[in-house]
Amino acid sequence: MFNFLKQVSDYTKGTVQAARYIGQGLSVTFDHMRRRPITVQYPYEKLIPSERFRGRIHFEFDKCISCEVCVRVCPINLPVVDWEFDKAAKKKTLKHYSIDFGVCIFCGNCVEFCPTNCLSFTEDYELSVYDRHQLNFDNVAMGRLPYKVTLDPMVTPLRELVYLPKGAINPHGLPDDARRAGLTPSEILEQEEDGQDQGNRN
Ligand code: SF4
Ligand code: SF4
Repeated sequence: MFNFLKQVSDYTKGTVQAARYIGQGLSVTFDHMRRRPITVQYPYEKLIPSERFRGRIHFEFDKCISCEVCVRVCPINLPVVDWEFDKAAKKKTLKHYSIDFGVCIFCGNCVEFCPTNCLSFTEDYELSVYDRHQLNFDNVAMGRLPYKVTLDPMVTPLRELVYLPKGAINPHGLPDDARRAGLTPSEILEQEEDGQDQGNRN
C-alpha cells in the first residue's frame, strides 16, 4: 500500500513539473505574439547601417605614401602595397594596392593607423560572390564608393534600432523627421564642446 502511494506521489510530482516546464516554454512563445513583426523586404528595403559600421574599405590612391603602416598594424599583414623607389624624386611611388576582403576581418587597424587617412570604412556589406578570389579588391575596385542606402533610388531605407524614436520597434511607416532616441555623434561632440567652452569661461 505504502509503495503504491509513493508511486502516485512521484507520478503527480513529475506531472506538475512537466506542466511547469511546458508553461515556461510556451510563455516565451506567447510573448512573441504581443510583438510586432519587423520584416525587411530585402533588397527593396534595407536597414541604414549605424554610423561606425565597418563595411568594405575605401582607398584613395593619390593620398597613399606607401609607408606600409597598414601592413604592419594588420594582424595578418593583409594589405599588399606595391611600390618602387623613384630615384629622381627620391621618394616611393605607389604602383598597386590591394586588400583581399575574403580574408580581412574588418578589425579597422589599417584605417585607424594610416597616417594620411587614405583608408576609410564604407557602409558596403554586400560582398557575396561565387568565387572568393573576386573579393581580392585592387586599388581601382577599392576606390569606388558604394551607393548609400539613404541615397539609392532603388531602395527604401529603414531605420536601424539605433535610429528609432524611443519606444518604437517597427521602422516601417515612420515619418522622416521622427526624432531618434539617442544623440547623434555630431550632437554629442557639440555637447562636449559646449561643456568645454563653459569650463574655460569659469
Ligand atoms: S598606411 Fe596608408 S599611406 Fe601608408 S601604405 Fe597604407 S594606405 Fe598607404
Ligand atoms: S581591417 Fe584589419 S584585417 Fe582588414 S586589412 Fe585592415 S588591418 Fe587588416
